[in-house]
Amino acid sequence: MKKFISFEEIKKLLEKKQTSCQAIVSHYLHNIQTKAHLNAFVEVYGQSALKRAEEIDEKLANGNAGKLAGMVIGIKDVLCYQGHESTASSKILKGYQAQFTATAIQRLIDQDAIIIGRLNCDEFGMGSSNENSAHGKVRNALDENRVPGGSSGGSAVAVQANLCTASLGTDTGGSVRQPAAFTGVIGMKPTYSRVSRWGLIAYASSFDTIGIFSHTVKDNALIMEIIAGHDEFDSTSSRKPIFPYSQLLHFEKKTKVAYLKEALESPALQPEIKKNTVAVLEKLKEEGHEVEQISFPLLDYILPTYYILTTAEASSNLSRFDGVKYGYRTPNAHNLESMYKKTRSEGFGEEVKRRIMLGTFVLSASYYDAYFTKAQKVRRMIKDFTEDLLSDFDYIIMPTTPTSAFKFGEHRDDPVAMYLEDLFTVQASVSGVPAISIPNGSDQNGMPIGLQIMSNSFKEAELYAFSHYLKDLTL
Ligand code: GLN
Repeated sequence: MKKFISFEEIKKLLEKKQTSCQAIVSHYLHNIQTKAHLNAFVEVYGQSALKRAEEIDEKLANGNAGKLAGMVIGIKDVLCYQGHESTASSKILKGYQAQFTATAIQRLIDQDAIIIGRLNCDEFGMGSSNENSAHGKVRNALDENRVPGGSSGGSAVAVQANLCTASLGTDTGGSVRQPAAFTGVIGMKPTYSRVSRWGLIAYASSFDTIGIFSHTVKDNALIMEIIAGHDEFDSTSSRKPIFPYSQLLHFEKKTKVAYLKEALESPALQPEIKKNTVAVLEKLKEEGHEVEQISFPLLDYILPTYYILTTAEASSNLSRFDGVKYGYRTPNAHNLESMYKKTRSEGFGEEVKRRIMLGTFVLSASYYDAYFTKAQKVRRMIKDFTEDLLSDFDYIIMPTTPTSAFKFGEHRDDPVAMYLEDLFTVQASVSGVPAISIPNGSDQNGMPIGLQIMSNSFKEAELYAFSHYLKDLTL
């Protein structure tokens, strides 16, 4: 029996006293156990979640429970939760205990959400298939021979397989939207700076965002209104007002939508994904919305720009993992220099090392201008183009990914083929605008297809409302 799929439903059951937080947590713990082979969770906080459920049941009885009482949440293993291990799915952080709690998690706890465990991901968020994890790969619950997407693969599968109500992931270049598309759930990346990054283990700081997986747009919007907003611990977090997104889902107006010619005509795009995307655009036209094709000649430059800038930032961010301050230290060193070298050689996985080397290269004195400075200029062009387009149009629609979930090992020997999976998601990341992936039918193998919608910065309310409306037009 499918139970407790959305928080909306959980809330109703709690109000009618037909269930309790303890029953909900027990239900999820049971599911986690029976689906352990999916490898979504790397740690389950079973006892503390049950204890917390008991406390919240009492609060519910007393009428003083928070807005998220009854919601059970999993957190990606790149977010710090005080007193708990946090490893970024890397051997180099094995055994590291978080000293403080990420602001996003704290805000959920303050509203009585229950944190049920820590979710598998690609090491330091680097990957598109969850095959780069020190905890092993995560399986897609719809076809266990296929990837769940990455890097937040565990967060996606935890929601897909009903192991929790919703989950937190992070999205630097698509790590929430792409796995959401591959698993058939909703995945939202907010505007850069909308949600505090305090307590998020950095990958590429000028791109990193905390995002949300859920079954419904309303649940997603509710979590966003709680975790978003300024935070004194993250000076880059925005002071712009936040709105009660979950109560602003009503959508009536006629809207202007753009789609990008180069994206829909991309040779990398799986034909069924193109077909389903076009079907939605056609329905929007039938409903009287303005839908226009726009040419985006910069599409081919987005991926190189993204990979130059993010590897540069990663090489700098990851220099702190040296065997002195955190986690793993090699037992095989004979002096300080060999301790550094061996710790990093043994502690980081292959993909992370590849990116550190690439990033160090593009930042090196002789190549800095040719790569890093140029990529920053191209980033500005992409950002300007995207923002201008989004002031003429309310939304940009495109597929979330060029392909649906692929089989394990398919891109193992070709990192560039793997990077191509991010073709459509990186535009929002390079530009900083919010973007959401919602399910849009499935392919001939029954694997889900995602539809991506972008809006201009800080227009999360509009983006949620439109996505809510779109769920009746998608396949
Ligand atoms: N797949 C992309 C990468 O490997 C995106 C990762 C992410 O958003 N964390 O960089």
